[in-house]
Amino acid sequence: MMSSAFDFERFSKRARALWDLMDPCVLCPRRCGVSRGKGRTGFCGIGDIPVVSSVGPHFGEESELVGSGGSGTIFFAGCNLGCVFCQNYDISHERRGRELTIEQLALSMLRLQDYGCMNVNWVTPTHVVAAITAALELARKQGLTLPTVYNTGGYDSVETLKLLEGAVDIYMPDMKYADSDVAGRLSGAADYPQVSREAVKEMHRQVGDLRTDSGVAVRGLLVRHLVLPENLAGSFDVIDFLSEQISGRTSINVMGQYRPCYKAASYSEIRRRPYAEEIESVRRYAIAKGLNVLR
Ligand code: SF4
Repeated sequence: MMSSAFDFERFSKRARALWDLMDPCVLCPRRCGVSRGKGRTGFCGIGDIPVVSSVGPHFGEESELVGSGGSGTIFFAGCNLGCVFCQNYDISHERRGRELTIEQLALSMLRLQDYGCMNVNWVTPTHVVAAITAALELARKQGLTLPTVYNTGGYDSVETLKLLEGAVDIYMPDMKYADSDVAGRLSGAADYPQVSREAVKEMHRQVGDLRTDSGVAVRGLLVRHLVLPENLAGSFDVIDFLSEQISGRTSINVMGQYRPCYKAASYSEIRRRPYAEEIESVRRYAIAKGLNVLR
């Protein structure tokens, strides 16, 4: 069904198909079934107009994304996951930000290019991907040449991802868990392990292994994995999956910066940071498996 915020005639079949998936919304694996075009919201808490919390060059991302000009991040408010330890909970769960039209979103992408950023990095894009692709089409027509980064929590449906083929240059999904009990308890998504594996397979099918030019990413898959205490993230299983079912040269960022945030104090198993040895053992395992472990 057509949304009042979206002029169908101006956009491609792809953007129109993505917009259709929001009404009723089955854009992500939650499949809430609400009519976002009629102002209703589902689990992610966002209607058919994206809410953006910040736009600007970011120098804290992986060096392959930062290069000399920074990664051009656009942080979207709302999220389709419910991580109890979320480190951006003011953006993801309190949904702080302001609504942007498709034209304003396109302009934001062009500004990031003007600033000298190396890419346009959509942070938490899954639930607003219809508006993003429409804005990308406008921005490309107006001269945007930067590669795009789909920086996702990894809870993405294959059907939606197929519609992104050609619009995304670099997929950067989290792989948060290998165990469905843990995923259900800590992120409200017991099907996360299976869903994220299918999603990563589709992402890799589209873009392949990460490729760089002068050290800066231009295309491919870069997986992020946050180590949790007591191997709650199932780190070794995630690495086995990547090396055996995706590619022996998958690029992975093994992240050791977990700290208890948001509601984590209420969960005894995640009240502490992982020990250095817990993080290092995951890194060593990934290296031993031959993965491209980012520094
Ligand atoms: S995008 Fe939001 S409303 Fe749509 S299915 Fe996912 S969580 Fe539900």
